[in-house]
Parts: sequence; C-alpha cells; structure tokens
Amino acid sequence: MRTVREPAREIPVVAEADVIVVGGGVAGMMAALAAARAGASTLLIERYGFLGGTATAGLMTSFNGFRNEHAPNHVQTVRGLAQELVDRLLAAGGACAHTQHGYFGPMKPGESPYAVSFDPEVLKQVGLEMLQEAGVRLMLHTLFADALVQGREIQAILVENKSGRQAILGQVYVDATGDGDLCARAGARYEIATGADQRLMRMTLMYRVAGLPDPAADERRLWINGITTKWGPGVGGVDGSNAEDLTRAEIEANRALREHLAKLREQYPQATLVAAAPMIGIRETRRIVGLYTISEEDVQSGRPQPDSIAVSSNPVPNYYGQRVFLEHLGFEIPYRCLVPADLDNVLLAGRCISACQPAFQSARSMAPNMAISQASGAAAALCVRSGRRPADLDVPKLQMQLEAAGAVVRVPPEERAQVE
Ligand SMILES: Cc1cc2nc3c(=O)[nH]c(=O)nc-3n(C[C@H](O)[C@H](O)[C@H](O)COP(=O)(O)OP(=O)(O)OC[C@H]3O[C@@H](n4cnc5c(N)ncnc54)[C@H](O)[C@@H]3O)c2cc1C
Repeated sequence: MRTVREPAREIPVVAEADVIVVGGGVAGMMAALAAARAGASTLLIERYGFLGGTATAGLMTSFNGFRNEHAPNHVQTVRGLAQELVDRLLAAGGACAHTQHGYFGPMKPGESPYAVSFDPEVLKQVGLEMLQEAGVRLMLHTLFADALVQGREIQAILVENKSGRQAILGQVYVDATGDGDLCARAGARYEIATGADQRLMRMTLMYRVAGLPDPAADERRLWINGITTKWGPGVGGVDGSNAEDLTRAEIEANRALREHLAKLREQYPQATLVAAAPMIGIRETRRIVGLYTISEEDVQSGRPQPDSIAVSSNPVPNYYGQRVFLEHLGFEIPYRCLVPADLDNVLLAGRCISACQPAFQSARSMAPNMAISQASGAAAALCVRSGRRPADLDVPKLQMQLEAAGAVVRVPPEERAQVE
C-alpha cells in the first residue's frame, strides 16, 4: 500500500476530566451517568449530534433482556440505571411493553418484562436530560481519532471535530465505542470473528413505518406510539470496523430497502416510511481481551462468579445459527471482563467487553449491556477516588455501591437454589 507521512504537530488540550467516556450509545450513557453520580468529573465524547448509538442512530428500538425470555424468568436480572431510564421513558410516553416477544401485559414503573419498546426520539431527549442533570459534560459531533500511550497507560486521547484536532486528558478512560476503537487504537489485543471458524453477525438496516393498524392482541410486532419498527435488509460478510465494508453495507442495504417496502405494502397499502436508520445496525465487531473472558461454559452453566457485577439472562440469538434460551436465571458478568488485559487506565463498557462469541451475543442486548456499563462507570469513579488502577479495584466495594444504587449484581443465591 502507498503511504504518506503526516508531520508531527502541537495539539491543543481542550478538556480534562476524571473520567472520559468515549461513545454515547446506551453503554456510554450508563457509564457516564454512573461515574458522574459517583462524584467524578465526567466527559462523554460522541461522534453524532445525539445520544443512543445503535438504539437511536440504528433505530433498534427494543431493550431486551431485563429477565429470561422463557422460564425461569420470575427474577428481573437488570434493574438500577437501566430500570430508571425505562421509568423516565414511560413517564414521558416513550416506552411500552410490545408484543414482538410475546409479552402482552401493561407496564408499571419499577418493573420491566423481558423486552421494552421505546420511542427513539424520546430516548434522545430523556438520555440528554439525565446526563445533564448528573453534570456530565458532552462533546458531540466529535470523533475519537487516536490514543497517546506510554507503556500500559493512555496519556491523552486525540479527537477530530469541526474545530480541528484536539487533545483530551483523563485519569480513567471508558471505551464505550461499541467497536472497541479506543482500546484497538491504544494497541490492546482484541478478538473478532473474521477467521475461518467464526462469522460476524449480519448487519441489518432497521426502519420505521406508519400507517399500519395497531397490532392485534396476539400479534408479534415491535410497535410504539403508532409506529412500527421493522428489521430491514441484512448484509452478511461485512466487518463494521472496516470503512470499505461499512460503505458497501450501507449502499447494499439502502438499495434493497425499496423492495422491502414494496413487499410490506402488498399487505399494508397505507404503509409510509417514517425513517430508515441513519446508520446500518452493526451487531458485532471487536471484543477486547480482558483479565477474564466469559466462556461458553460460564454461559451454559450459569455458575456463580465471585466478582460478578451484572447478570445476562438474554438468550444467545445466533448460537451456531440457533436462538438458544438459558435454562437458568442468567449468567453472571465478572468485573475482570471490563478490565483490558493490556491497558492500565481503561475500562470497557457495552458490547466490546471480554467475552467469547456466545456470551457476547447474549450480553450485547441492551438491558444487560446497560447493567454492565453502569458497573464500568461506577468502577471508573471508584478508581479515581481510591487512586487505584482498574485491575486493583476493591471489587466488594464496587458491588456494594452498585447494590446501593439499585443494580442487580448477581443472581440471588436463594433464587438460584430454587431453580437448581
Ligand atoms: C440489527 C440489530 C438488532 C438488534 N436487536 C436487539 C434487540 O432486539 N434488543 C436489544 O436489546 N438489543 C439488540 N441489538 C443489540 C444492541 O442494540 C446493541 O448491542 C447495543 O445497542 C450496543 O450498545 P453500545 O452502546 O454498546 O454500542 P453502540 O450502540 O454501537 O454505541 C457506540 C457509540 O459510540 C459512538 N462511537 C463509535 N465510535 C466512535 C468514535 N471513534 N468516536 C466517537 N464516538 C464513537 C457511536 O456513534 C455510538 O453512539 C441489536 C443490534 C442490531 C444491530
């Protein structure tokens, strides 16, 4: 490949904070909220002009995994900030139980069924309100570009935006980019299913349509406020951490959308396109290698983890091509999966945590994803306060703080005993 040499230059330092969260999807939102509420000065950097990531830009409008989809599902395994967000959305008319996953009851504050449908426009507003109330500083329209690393520590990160190239300094950085951009640029090891024996999950262009009748009582449909969200064209064999693949996927999916709509109009002639997602939905890219990697055995057995900080009870949607439901209440997420093996002042949030592919496929869903990310933000703040590296954090203290904030950090032992 031909190359050019970029001259070295001085970069202005435009911001400093205790905790820098890179990425403002649901993971970044929860991590920033938790860090700020724990008293850390917190800055969140997001490339778009709004929050939500896949949930808003990707129009993936269902939070799945508040509990097991099938029995045993009597325990809600995600609460804390994720439930608070649902309650705020509910109060703002932006959340409801939907029938896509067969739950037909009404919703009440403080409790969630397996899946919750939300209005992405309301999520943008409510998310912004919650972060601003907590005192999180936002840098929108700002792309993380690179990390300056010395030894195992990030010294500064470099961003690009309309003002040019800028530097930002933090004590602890949270990688909530979904794709693990921060860690990958900082040289940390990662796994990605592009080898001979593994395949990345497909990308899907989601879209929203009006003009369909309200769903019948027993009809499975993702619906809220008169609008239905549809899974549109999918594209396989593409890698969301590769710009060429991303371009090809967007073009292919957007070209195929017209056909999808034509088919839908055969059934519903009044169907009107409200929006195609501004960004094709990317399910899977890098998983950063952490101090521990959740194994298939962990997922299947649901065995207790001493440093558990959250629970994923979501099914594994694509386990060797099949949707596999857990036969227990959920598997526990060890804190060590949030700590990159190769970097000393970074934590992972959201879908780039250290997990084997089936564990990732379960925990990437937004309810467990938000629970994990609440723990990342709280841990980052605790690191700053205690002057410890993430690898040396007092985990029992973190678990206590999360529980005090209403989070479920482990499967309740008495419930586990009943199921076994
Ligand atoms: C088609 C599809 C269907 C799905 N179905 C469901 C479902 O039914 N229910 C469910 O719960 N989950 C579902 N998921 C999974 C779920 O939506 C995602 O795993 C989750 O939203 C990921 O959240 P995140 O915050 O970890 O990452 P992302 O949503 O990817 O957020 C990352 C954020 O970081 C920003 N960012 C990235 N790189 C940079 C950078 N370099 N600089 C600055 N900002 C950056 C992005 O703009 C984005 O806002 C689905 C996903 C897809 C794609």
